[in-house]
Amino acid sequence: MQGIDFNGAEHRKVTIIGTGPAGLTAAIYSARANLSPLVIQGPEPGGQLITTTDVENYPGFPDGIMGPEMMQKFEAQASRFGADLRWGTVTSVDFSKRPFKLVVDEETPVLSDTVIISTGASARYLGLKNEARLLGHGVSACATCDGAFFREQKVAIVGGGDTAMEEALFLTRFASKVYVIHRRDAFRASQIMQDRVLAHDKIEVLWNTQVVDVHGDKVVTGIELADPEGNNKRTLPVDGLFVAIGHKPNTDIFASSIDRDETGYIVTKPDSTYTNIEGVFACGDAQDHVYRQAITAAGTGCMAAIDAERWLADQEG
Ligand code: NDP
Repeated sequence: MQGIDFNGAEHRKVTIIGTGPAGLTAAIYSARANLSPLVIQGPEPGGQLITTTDVENYPGFPDGIMGPEMMQKFEAQASRFGADLRWGTVTSVDFSKRPFKLVVDEETPVLSDTVIISTGASARYLGLKNEARLLGHGVSACATCDGAFFREQKVAIVGGGDTAMEEALFLTRFASKVYVIHRRDAFRASQIMQDRVLAHDKIEVLWNTQVVDVHGDKVVTGIELADPEGNNKRTLPVDGLFVAIGHKPNTDIFASSIDRDETGYIVTKPDSTYTNIEGVFACGDAQDHVYRQAITAAGTGCMAAIDAERWLADQEG
């Protein structure tokens, strides 16, 4: 702890919100710069990689590594240099004056001279009439988490990106049949992932098809399909519906103070992690709508820590 203010709130030089690759890399760098960062873990400690299986494209792991194991290593490395990781979710922020004020879990105030936003992104859903009601009862956005519940059952996955390919392949370990449902006639996923999906004998791709609703009283029993124009409606009996249609940046709590683009990604100044508020920096999937990789998130986390360190030095100098 670096000091107590007159209200009794903890006061830090650096507070990092979120613990995916971006936040934990920022933690490693700012801890090694002797800034004793406070790291608020957020609702999904470790971020999206916690729900990923093999990570095969992170340099330094020639045989691949499981996502959760990789994040444990990031965390151990941050803790080793004195980053102070705490459970909790930042529920509101006041960036109108310095030190900035954060509130954790709606009750615990934290004051901080700089803030690094690394809150990542969350899964998007289709917005179907019965989707939310059946969430956790056959509807899921995480095959890694829920795939094992569908042994010898039929499942469908919606999407044409790398997540959909990865999850479809993962689901073949359990399910008897995996339908990949895509709204166009071509995937956007990387070629190597497409090839694996298209070659798999348990996977059937339904091109130019959209899911218009999900059926089931207590659990999913089927999905209603249609062509892209909404015609040719038919029911496909499945036990599970996995949604893999991309992500939404977790930036709503910053809406009134931090500049965001029309889809909610935080806008940073060119070649830096500076936001529109001096002393507040943003990195990782909360800010990057282009690359969205663990390695690029880690890279921008490093940039944010260096930007914060230099900004603090300028204030003190
Ligand atoms: P993407 O944005 O790449 O893909 C989303 C997919 O969902 C697209 O095919 C899109 O269709 C479809 N989609 C979007 N909205 C709807 C909707 N309302 N109804 C039906 N379909 C919809 O997201 P991902 O999560 O797949 O990937 C995000 C990033 O992470 C990418 O850069 C990806 O490469 C990367 N990634 C890398 C991995 C790896 O390397 N191991 C693993 C997973 C992700 P359309 O194509 O028509 O737009």
